Amino acid sequence: MTLLKNFLIVAFFSIQQIISQGLFEGDNKYTLQDSLRGSITKERAWWDLNFYHLNIKVDPEKKFIKGYNEIRYKVINSDSIMQIDLQPPLKITRITQNGDSLKYYNVGNAYYVKLKIMQLPNKINSVKVYYEGNPKEAIRAPWDGGLSWRKDKNGKHFVATSCQGIGASIWWPNKDHMYDEVDSMKISVNVPKGLTNVSNGRLIEIEELTESTTFHWKVVNPINNYGVNFNIGDYTNFSEKYDGEKGKLDIEYYVLKDNLSIAKNHFKDNVRMIRAFEHWFGPYPFYEDSYKLVEVPYLGMEHQSSITYGNKYMKGYLGKDLSNTGWGLKFDYIIIHEGAHEWFANNITYKDAADMWIHEGFASYAENIFLDFYYGKKASSDYVIGLRKRIKNKKKIIGDYNVNSEGSSDMYSKGSNLLHTIRQIANNDNLWRKTLRGLNKNFYHKTVTTAEIENYISNSIGFDLKFVFDQYLRNTEIPVFEYSYNMGRLKYRWKNVIDGFDMPIKIFSDGKELLLSPTKKWKLKEVQSKTIEVDKNYYVDIVLVN
Ligand SMILES: [Zn+2]
Repeated sequence: MTLLKNFLIVAFFSIQQIISQGLFEGDNKYTLQDSLRGSITKERAWWDLNFYHLNIKVDPEKKFIKGYNEIRYKVINSDSIMQIDLQPPLKITRITQNGDSLKYYNVGNAYYVKLKIMQLPNKINSVKVYYEGNPKEAIRAPWDGGLSWRKDKNGKHFVATSCQGIGASIWWPNKDHMYDEVDSMKISVNVPKGLTNVSNGRLIEIEELTESTTFHWKVVNPINNYGVNFNIGDYTNFSEKYDGEKGKLDIEYYVLKDNLSIAKNHFKDNVRMIRAFEHWFGPYPFYEDSYKLVEVPYLGMEHQSSITYGNKYMKGYLGKDLSNTGWGLKFDYIIIHEGAHEWFANNITYKDAADMWIHEGFASYAENIFLDFYYGKKASSDYVIGLRKRIKNKKKIIGDYNVNSEGSSDMYSKGSNLLHTIRQIANNDNLWRKTLRGLNKNFYHKTVTTAEIENYISNSIGFDLKFVFDQYLRNTEIPVFEYSYNMGRLKYRWKNVIDGFDMPIKIFSDGKELLLSPTKKWKLKEVQSKTIEVDKNYYVDIVLVN
């Protein structure tokens, strides 16, 4: 609840209020730009995204983009100033409504457009935002974001966008906040002759011009900004149909021509991924838009319905097993992890970057649920427990709200261990599967807060996880299960936990399961047992004191 309140405090302040009241100065880690980017400003709140048509020409020789984004929106409340975001060095050159040029000014990356016509509630209007320039280049994509202008082995252009975190406004003008997803989108990309462009959704038209080709792509489902992408290369493609939970799913693979035969074999992991995740998470959420795996010159990204791939046709993470158990080499990390994001990131999307664990915690968790599906529970447990070595516990998983701030990178491995621990608490795999599928059904094509996800899981498994989530997401301390066993007397307690911390834990007494509900105070239990073993699936430190 507090969480939601914090969110609303900055929401609905106008740019002038943000500047004059110094709302962004509360914590001087953050700048005015962070607030304009990360909050639902007044100039964003009054209109609801309906449709984008991004129509651009890409010139790889000059590393130049030029074109427009037509933004169709529904008026929620009458207003006349609209915020559109675009990051330098790109520049907006003109904005029109019904053909009429509009006045605008910018405060850094935020452009404020003065609309002339009355914006009547419930009306659908549109503005066209023309822009051009040499966009920021990505140096270490996908971690920094921007444009990767590369060439393949044959000297052909190989170009791709990536923009998670830094934001889609690094390469196209849009409402760059995650709370409002556009309902559908058309992406038209003009490229030099001989090259192919691959974007999200389905290819609806190829327009041949004298010296160039325009590829028109259509997305019919809601899509988040950073999920939009274009990829340009000397591509070839192959396809298959997958008999899935919602019928026939069209799958297309786009790879560099030289990699066709290796890809045909290596990409078999893709259907394995879909089968495992439809089982655990429910139907793939974008049948209408098909599923694509697209080779790119960087590691990879969860671009909706066009997952980008750059894991160099290796198993693991660039050939490495992140868990050091051997299980991480049973699959191609990028195919499995980025694929999982179709459910957790693209279907269920965070409203505020502070809650990014909803994407990364679940996608990381999905890696071991994939192993569970094909190799069983032991493999899955070994893998997720193996990831614990990567957890730093230095910073909280949840970031700061309204300033586009991500929390600790522990959101991956600690996030997956938190979910694995909750699976133990649920203590019923059918119920756990129902919960994961229920999340994807209940929040289908929605943007969410972590509070919504936390409450849903608590309700679904019938156990209040409030303190568990607070402990693992909003603190850096890991619970210590302290126990001693002497002459049939088992003493145990939680240490290093927040007030009110409530989590059961399973032990094995001579191999037999026993559920305990420790508190901060010592508890005593009479147990006749030769051996006492604590279940390692719970992400806690286990300390035997005597
Ligand atoms: Zn991820």
